Amino acid sequence: MRPTSSRVAVLQLFHEFPNEHMTADQVFRRVPPDTEQCSLASVYRALAQLLEAGLLTNAWIGEQRVVYELNRGTRHSHLVCNDCGTIRDIDDSELEAQHAAIASAREFSYASASLVIFGRCAQCAAELEASGRSAKVQALVRRAE
Ligand SMILES: [Zn+2]
Ligand SMILES: [Zn+2]
Repeated sequence: MRPTSSRVAVLQLFHEFPNEHMTADQVFRRVPPDTEQCSLASVYRALAQLLEAGLLTNAWIGEQRVVYELNRGTRHSHLVCNDCGTIRDIDDSELEAQHAAIASAREFSYASASLVIFGRCAQCAAELEASGRSAKVQALVRRAE
């Protein structure tokens, strides 16, 4: 059997995980090993070709991290948790319209915008609160001893 080309393998991976955001490195680690010329360089090449073809989109999410995802045909922004790295999509057409309005008000013809909101997800906030509470309880116990 002919090995799958890296472009096909990469696209298949995104179809398998339609709601995931993956870095090039994560993609590389998840493509099947029987992929033709399976290297990080070939994954980067495949990602660039799929972006160009409009099948994927990418987003910069801080530091040197760029994630790729399946192009669902609508632009969206992202919420990124600084603690666990979770990435959530913000599908808000009003936000999109606002970006375009900001651009046009400055005589800028709008092409695209990418908003990333950094913070702490609800789960991490709950964990932090719980661990803070238990630390406080331990301090009280220690004081009582
Ligand atoms: Zn989190
Ligand atoms: Zn996204």
